[in-house]
Formats: sequence, structure tokens, C-alpha cells
Amino acid sequence: MTVRTRFAPSPTGLLHIGGVRTALFCWLYARRHHGSFILRIEDTDRERSTPAAVQVILDGMDWLGLHPDEGPFYQTARYPRYREVIRQWLDEGKAYHCYCTKDELEAMRNAQLAAKAKPRYDGRCRERRDPRPGITPVVRFRSPDEGEVVVEDRVHGDVVFRNAELDDLIIERSDGNPTYNFCVVVDDYDMRITHVIRGDDHLNNTPRQINMLRALGVEPPVYAHLPMILGPDGTKLSKRHGAVSVLHYREQGYLPEALLNYLARLGWSHGDQEIFSLAEMVELFDLDHVNKAASAINPDKLAWISQQHLMRAQPARVSTELAWQFGQLGVEVVGGPPLEAIVLAQRERAKTLQEMAQNSRYFFCSPEGYDDKAARKHLVAEALPLLAQTRAALAALPDWNAPAIHAALEGLAAAAGVGLGKVAQPLRVAVTGGSVSPPIDQTLAIIGHEATLARIDRAVAWVATGGGPGA
Ligand code: GLU
Repeated sequence: MTVRTRFAPSPTGLLHIGGVRTALFCWLYARRHHGSFILRIEDTDRERSTPAAVQVILDGMDWLGLHPDEGPFYQTARYPRYREVIRQWLDEGKAYHCYCTKDELEAMRNAQLAAKAKPRYDGRCRERRDPRPGITPVVRFRSPDEGEVVVEDRVHGDVVFRNAELDDLIIERSDGNPTYNFCVVVDDYDMRITHVIRGDDHLNNTPRQINMLRALGVEPPVYAHLPMILGPDGTKLSKRHGAVSVLHYREQGYLPEALLNYLARLGWSHGDQEIFSLAEMVELFDLDHVNKAASAINPDKLAWISQQHLMRAQPARVSTELAWQFGQLGVEVVGGPPLEAIVLAQRERAKTLQEMAQNSRYFFCSPEGYDDKAARKHLVAEALPLLAQTRAALAALPDWNAPAIHAALEGLAAAAGVGLGKVAQPLRVAVTGGSVSPPIDQTLAIIGHEATLARIDRAVAWVATGGGPGA
């Protein structure tokens, strides 16, 4: 059997990490078993579906590299097929027209509630043969009255539903539109889906879907209902918690593989391993180690995983994403130092690419000002003589590279009888504007010989013209 999974988002809200985790598990499972991953856009709710939400799904999946083998298929393009199945079921007696009015349904419900029974459609139109004039009917599926449906769920185990609890659901509304559960069934059937992996908020739909699949003459696929993702405080994930479009994670500077690693671990485990490359996830993912319980998101863990991936990723690839971040900040990188050198210098101290870009502006432009606290401490009149000597020593360097710069600064510190920090800190503030940067030799090597000297001159002039303490 060739494994076929599908991710079937409804574009009624922007794709967020809950949806992405479902997509990831479907994609991983298909990849792991050399199967196919299908993308299906469930856009039959025309009022709530938006083109913007569809675009976020397509762009988000693309950014994450979760490329479908088939699709995207749009349910709204499949109406003729849904009508065909409805017609067939009407002919076969598997579905029937229901002419009950809203008032009648309401009265039925009230009577059932009064009798302390669970409200459900009682099937009174099942045997009706004649239309009721003036009423456009809905179509209902004739659900089995007896027996049970056992959902053999790969995460939750067997979940048993009594057919007596399931009433005859509407599969076509009076306006001719097919309904959600029905479309899912026709699609899963037509697309030959073997594994339905989705959020466990759909578990209650599953027995109805199984009954309809059986009406189509097939046995159900394997189901795996994934536990919900909660906010950090354990409540339902909301915008406040970062249930924002997945593309925000790109803006915030996460590598796609870091976000996917984080989401894989949110609900799945492989021993106590935390960091997975994409290839490892594909190799190791299984449904047996998916948790039953909901998991809360943990922004600190995401940041940690992000940093781990920044350290592991090819610098050339990180550079491409970093260039995008600089673009967002309006920093022109063309003609500046090589981005790979910045990645290598900064990746240990940045949790995200956004942070890396924000903390790396000085590689491309002179500092616009000096951090107040750093300047008060290091850009002061007493520091000028040593800074001037430093400038002279650096100016005289024939080769501009980190070891040569390091040796020059060490030599200066030794000659002055001070620690390296006394030489390095004023220099760092002068060239970067602040007191935090990669090692000073690396920092200066990347900034360049001329730019370093020019920035020292500017800082010296700034102190000399009274820009120093209190300015
Ligand atoms: N369209 C549904 C949703 O976005 C998913 C349906 C399914 O996976 O069966 O929640």
C-alpha cells in the first residue's frame, strides 16, 4: 500500500502553528513511507474563506518546504463531483430529501429536551416519497440505526461511538451547497487517502465520516487525531499567544527547520532527543510516539531550538535568510562585508535571524550614536591617549585579519600594562556604538580597515568636542 496523507486546511483564518504541526506530521509520515502528501483547501465556507488566508497557506507551506506531491485541490472546484455522489446516494436510498421546516425541527428538539433525550433528527422524512410544495428540501445521509462505529485511532486507541447517537446528517443544504463532513469523505475517497492525520477536534466527526465512507463501499483509512496545542499558560491557543500567521515566524527570524523541529517535538518524541534535522525527522517520525495529551507552547524552548539550528545550518543558507532580515530593516548589504562572515561571528549570540540582523547593523553602517551607558564608561577623555595609540597601531597593520588585529591589540595592552579589555572596550564602542559584539578582532576584521580607522576618528572627535560624559 502506498501511503497517502493530506493536509486539509480551511482558509477561514490565517494558518498558524497548530495547522502547521498537522501539516508537518502528514508530510513527515508521507515522506517516511515514500508516499504522497496532498494539499487540499477546504474552502466551501464561502463567507469565511478568504484569498488572503489561502495565500498564507501556500506561502507558509512553501517557506517551510512542506511541498505537496499533489494539489492544492480546492473543494469549491469539486462541486459537480459532490452533486454526482449525492444523486447516486439518492438513487440508492442512502440519502433522502428532508422537507422539515425550521419550526418543525425546533419543535422536535424541544420535545426531545422535555423528555430528557439527546436532541437529534428523528428521521421522519426517511420514508417520505412526495415533495412538500413550497419547500426546497435538504438532503440527509441515512445513518445506520444500530451498531457501533469503532475509530481505531493511532493516537487515542479505539474510540467507540454508538450509531444510535448519530442522526441523519445534512449533506446538501437547501441552497444546493454540500456540507463539510460530506465533502471531506468524498475527497478522502477520491484522493485515495490512506492516513488521515488531523487535530483531535475532528474526532467526533470521524464516526459519521466512516459511515459515509462505508456507504461509498470502502473501509476507512487509518486515523490519527493529534492533541491540541495550547498557549504557554495552558489555555486555548489564541492570537495573544502567538496564534498568528505562520509567516510571522519568518519575520521574527526563525529558520524553517527550527520551527519544524520545535513543532515536531510538540506532541511527538524520540527518546530524549531535542534537536532534529529535517532528514532525521523524516527518518524517525512515527505515529506511535505521538502524545495523547495536549501540549503547551514554550517560547523559550522555541528560541533555544532556533539558536541550535542557527549554529548547525550551512552559513550560506543562513546568509540568504539574514539578507532578507536586513532588507526588512532597510539595511543595504550589497557592497558590504560578506554575510557569511557575519553569520559565523554572530550565530552563537543570536536566538533568531531578526536578532542577528538587528545586532549586526554596524557591519554595514557607522553607528548613528553611542549607547549612553557604554559611552559614559569608555568614550571618555582619559581613554583618548590609548585609543589614539590603538588607531596608530591598527593603521600600521599591513594585513587586515583577525589574528593580526588580535596580536596588535595584545601588544598594545601589554605595553600599556593593562588588560586587553581596556584596549578593546573603547574601541568596540567607537566602531559598533555599543559594548556588545563578537570578539573585537573578528568584529574589526569584518568591518574593514578603512572603516575601522574612520570610526575611531569620529569617536575621538566626538569625545574631544565634548560629546563625552554628560553630553
Ligand atoms: N478543514 C479542517 C480544518 O481546517 C480539517 C479537516 C480534516 O482534516 O479532515 O480544521
